Amino acid sequence: MVVPKEKRGILLSFPTRENATPRPKNESCPECGCLETAYEVVIAEIKAIVRGPFPTVREKLTRLYHKQDERDRILAQLYSHKRENHLRKRA
Ligand SMILES: [Zn+2]
Repeated sequence: MVVPKEKRGILLSFPTRENATPRPKNESCPECGCLETAYEVVIAEIKAIVRGPFPTVREKLTRLYHKQDERDRILAQLYSHKRENHLRKRA
């Protein structure tokens, strides 16, 4: 009996705390460190919402979408900051 790969992928899409490997912090740049910390916090919040019980599905999804927007905003800030400050080799 073969388990379809797609099914396994879904099961693995939310890693447990044990499986999550902490990424090294960029200590030379406080702004990178700050944005990376904010990103990790919002990811932890998203995981908590996914796991946690909510009175209604709608409330759960509303909070999830809100956090995903926040995550996207932080990522966009991090990328644009890195582009402007840490990718000078091409210039
Ligand atoms: Zn930086």
